[in-house]
Amino acid sequence: MSTTADISVATRTTYEPVIGLEVHVQLLTASKIFCSCSTRFGAPPNTNVCPVCLGMPGALPVLNRKAVEFATLAAMALNCRINETSIFARKNYFYPDLPKGYQISQYDKPLAEHGYIELGSRDRVSTISDGRQVLGGKDAGEGARATKIGITRVHLEEDAGKSLHEGFPDADEKTAIDLNRTGVPLIEIVSEPEIATPDEAYEYLTRLKEIILYTGVSDCNMEEGSLRCDANVSVRPRGQKELGTKAEIKNVNSFRFIRQALVYEIARQVEVIETGGKIVQETRLYNSSEGKTYGMRSKEQAHDYRYFPEPDLLPLVVDEKWKAEIMKTMPELPEVRRARLVMDYGITEYDAQVLTASKSLADQFEAAAKAANNPKRVANLVQAELMGRLRARGAEIEQSPISMKGVAASADLVESGAISGKMLKELYDLSFERNKDFPEVYEEEGRPQQSSDTSALEKIIDDVVAANPKQLEQYRAGKKTMLGFFVGQVMKASKGQANPQLVNEMLIKKLE
Ligand code: ADP
Ligand code: MG
Ligand code: ZN
Repeated sequence: MSTTADISVATRTTYEPVIGLEVHVQLLTASKIFCSCSTRFGAPPNTNVCPVCLGMPGALPVLNRKAVEFATLAAMALNCRINETSIFARKNYFYPDLPKGYQISQYDKPLAEHGYIELGSRDRVSTISDGRQVLGGKDAGEGARATKIGITRVHLEEDAGKSLHEGFPDADEKTAIDLNRTGVPLIEIVSEPEIATPDEAYEYLTRLKEIILYTGVSDCNMEEGSLRCDANVSVRPRGQKELGTKAEIKNVNSFRFIRQALVYEIARQVEVIETGGKIVQETRLYNSSEGKTYGMRSKEQAHDYRYFPEPDLLPLVVDEKWKAEIMKTMPELPEVRRARLVMDYGITEYDAQVLTASKSLADQFEAAAKAANNPKRVANLVQAELMGRLRARGAEIEQSPISMKGVAASADLVESGAISGKMLKELYDLSFERNKDFPEVYEEEGRPQQSSDTSALEKIIDDVVAANPKQLEQYRAGKKTMLGFFVGQVMKASKGQANPQLVNEMLIKKLE
C-alpha cells in the first residue's frame, strides 16, 4: 500500500470527497418519549422500565409534550421549517436491545425539514493534527467564504437499549442488556451530502453542538451518548455530478476521531478505486488506536425496515399557535450573540468566538461586564490580558485561573485609579503563577495601591520641574498643553506606579 501522503495528493488531483452526517441528540426531558419512566443516566440496569418501553403486548405509547417542544425548538434553531403535521412510523428490525422489534421513529413525514448550519469558511487547505494536509472538495486558494450546509430533516424518535459487554460477571462469555435507555427521546438531524472535507465535518459538528447547547434541549454529552454521530462518506472524480457509493462510519465517540476516521476513509476509498476496485455500500467501524476503519456489515436498504405509520399514535400536529409559544423560548443563538458582542464591546471576531463557545461563558462575561463600572474595560482586559496569557499557556478559557468576576474586579480597580495598568499586569501574572483568581491574589498581595503617597510624589514632581526650566517657562507663558509633558515625565520617574489623577492635581498646583 502506498503511503497516505501519496493518496492525499491523488485526492487533490482526481477525487473529491462528499460527506453527510447523521447526528442523534438525546433530549433532556425528565421522562421518556412514550411513557413516564425516568431518563436519568447511570441508574442501575433495567430499573427505569415499564410495560410501554419494554414493548409488552397491549401497552400503549403516549407522546411526551415536552419532547415535542424540545425537538421543535432545536429544529427552529437549525433554521428548519416545521411541518404542521408529522407522522410517527415503525422502523422494523431485530436487535437484542430493541424489545418491541421496532423503533418508533418518523419517516416520510418528519417533524422538520429544509434547515441549514452556517460554517465560517470553506476552501481552506486544512491541516490535521499530525501535520499532513487533507485537501478540500474545492480548489484551494479561492479564499474563505461562509457556506451553508443543508439539513435535510430533523425527526423525533425513541432510543433503543444498550448491549453491555463488560462490567458484570461472565462478561467474557455473555452479553447483558440494559433497557433503561429504551424509549428515551432523541432527535435525528440529517445533513445533506454537502460537507466537503473532514475539517468541515468537524466544524459542522462543533456548530451543531453549540447551537443545541444554547437551546438547552440537550447536554450533548458524547461520553454518556447524548450526542452520537454517524458519518457517511463517498468520493467521486472531481467534476462528476453523480455521488459515489458511500460508506457509513458508526459509533465514533469524539469529533476529533470523526475527523480522523474521515481522513482515513477518504484515502481508503480513493485507493480502492485507483487500484481498480469498487466501493461497496456498508457500515464501517473506526478503531481510534489504529486510526483505521473496518467493514462491519453491508448496509440494509431503507425498504428492509418495512416502515409503516405507527397505528398507536395520532399524527403529531404542531400548529402556528404552539409554534409561536415554542419560539418564545428561543434564546439568542451563538452566531447572533457573537455579532452583538463585537458591536457592543468592541472586541474582535475571534475573541467573540471564544467567549460565546458556551452559553454559560458568554453569560458570565456579559454579567461581569455589566456589573463593572466600565463594561468596555472588562472586554478590553479579557482580550488584552486574559486571552494572551491563556494562549501562552495553551489553556482553554474554562481553565482560566481568573474568572470573569475576577476580571471585572480588576477592571474596577484600574478604573478608580487604585491600581495602575502595570500593576494589573503583574497581578495577572501572579494569578497565573499561583493558579488563583484575581481577588484572592489581590488580597494576598495586601491590596496594593498605586502610589498616593504624596510626600514621595512631591519629591518626584519637584525634581521633574527643576530639571525642565524651559518647559516650565512655556507653561507659565500660557502654553497649558505642557501639562501633559510634565505628567508624562512624572509617570516615567515613578515607573508607572503613581496615580495619574493625583499627579495631575499636584502638578497643576505646583506649576501655577
Ligand atoms: P440511508 O438510507 O443509507 O440512511 P440517506 O439517504 O438517509 O441514506 O442518507 C443518510 C446520510 O448520508 C445523509 O446525511 C446523507 O447526506 C448522506 N449521504 C447520502 N448519500 C451519500 C453519498 N453518496 N455520499 C456521502 N454521503 C451521502
Ligand atoms: Mg439514514
Ligand atoms: Zn417506560
